[in-house]
Amino acid sequence: MNIGSYESSYWFDIISSGHRLDFNEAREIIEDMTVHEIMHLADQLTGTQIGDTVTYAVSYNINYSNYCTASCPICAFYVPAKLKGKSSKGYELSIEDVRSELKKAEKLNPTEIHIVGGFNPYLPIEYYENVFRTVKESLPEVTLKALTIPEIDFIARETGNSIREVIERFHEAGMDAHTGGGAEIFNPEVRKQISTPEKISGEDWLKDAKIIHSMGIRGNSTMTYGHVENWDNIMDHMIKIRENQKEVPGFLSFIPLKFSIENTPLKKMGKVKHPASGEKDLKVVSMARIIMGQDIRNISVYWVSVGKGIAQVALNGGGNDLVGTAVSEKIFGATDRREYTTIEELNNMVESIGKIPARRDTFYNIVGKFDR
Ligand code: SF4
Repeated sequence: MNIGSYESSYWFDIISSGHRLDFNEAREIIEDMTVHEIMHLADQLTGTQIGDTVTYAVSYNINYSNYCTASCPICAFYVPAKLKGKSSKGYELSIEDVRSELKKAEKLNPTEIHIVGGFNPYLPIEYYENVFRTVKESLPEVTLKALTIPEIDFIARETGNSIREVIERFHEAGMDAHTGGGAEIFNPEVRKQISTPEKISGEDWLKDAKIIHSMGIRGNSTMTYGHVENWDNIMDHMIKIRENQKEVPGFLSFIPLKFSIENTPLKKMGKVKHPASGEKDLKVVSMARIIMGQDIRNISVYWVSVGKGIAQVALNGGGNDLVGTAVSEKIFGATDRREYTTIEELNNMVESIGKIPARRDTFYNIVGKFDR
């Protein structure tokens, strides 16, 4: 037995006994073990926490507007809100536009509709309620997963409501879950470089998540990596999400989002020259399983952000979910990530590595095994 496999079984026993890794223990793993050893440890944990099933949702994305009062250096999607009426690139979907998107979605028999947009100061709270009601009237069977936590906070501030009031109204209008986006990286120094003051702090993101979860609305958790962060920032982020989950449960999954650099201000400023390596992508998924898997059992691999090849490998290193078909996604699409997939392709990706593909709902309940 080499030292690496000894370390892997040592940590496997410790984590399986119920111990939650602290920051220094997580750092020991990232510093002392190779990517193969880390993936092996994560895969063993996935085996005991989940088994061999890999899930995905059939999701259709609607991005209602790209006008935004924030101007995050990591974002290629937004058009400054002050340019409304002056830019040919800015848009705001009308209720009629939303209806026609839903007609396209219907053909794909989606399990969920995923709705996010920019911080649009021109939209009243009733706009969101109308959009959500339209979704539920047109497709009553789908789950409506809507808005990032910073968007919810923005709408609350803009409309003079509390987070609770906004969530109450949105839930009444049809919102079933939040998307978990906008977590970025919690470390304030890193956050300052990739975000803007209009976007809430990491501390507030975690605080808002607790309020939303305490009201029974659940959602995902995320992290954007591959820009100016380091491993300490990544592990700190994962531990903070895990601890939040222990206090007020409500996270359905953790989705690491690889920063897609093309067309972003961060790339134009020369602060990031290359995307994160495939090795880093794999280690991030594995460390998420190792640090968070006991409390957030679904560790998702977003194939749109890492590419299909790395996504497939990551399913043998801690991942147990491929997020979804993500049809009509425009936010990664504004960078260089314009990949498209089909349900058949997702199933093939899973079956060819000896795992079992399964369709799930937003809450990670399996709604159908793939049947050829
Ligand atoms: S990441 Fe979100 S909040 Fe930031 S500029 Fe883009 S749309 Fe606006």
